[in-house]
Amino acid sequence: MSDCLFCKIINGEIPAEIVAENDQALAFRDINPQASTHVLIIPKVHIESTRNLNNDNIDALSHMALLANEISDSEKIKDSGYRWVINTGGDGGQTVYHIHLHLLGGRQMNWPPG
Ligand code: AMP
Ligand code: ZN
Repeated sequence: MSDCLFCKIINGEIPAEIVAENDQALAFRDINPQASTHVLIIPKVHIESTRNLNNDNIDALSHMALLANEISDSEKIKDSGYRWVINTGGDGGQTVYHIHLHLLGGRQMNWPPG
């Protein structure tokens, strides 16, 4: 989608600190990190949110998950623990409408989340 911020990162129009990628997913550092590791993992195709997952695109979520696992290893937070977050819609706190998994680690996470 031409006016999507994360699609622009995928096609190189907007710079990002890329951490890793696989065939279907791309990972880069959040511009406003909330923990020492804060990586965003996105599908390389435009999917707005969890609400738009369906039988045809659900594989993208698996590839995002596998990439997140690789990164938790390379960021050395695999053993200490980490959090996956996907915000959906207004009440969910979603601000960028290209589905993304936040991988947060390197500090104790709180519960319940804000
Ligand atoms: P959400 O609020 O769940 O939609 O998360 C959007 C995330 O994208 C926020 O954590 C922002 O800090 C992050 N973000 C916004 N613009 C950029 C960018 N240009 N590069 C990296 N991260 C970004
Ligand atoms: Zn997009």
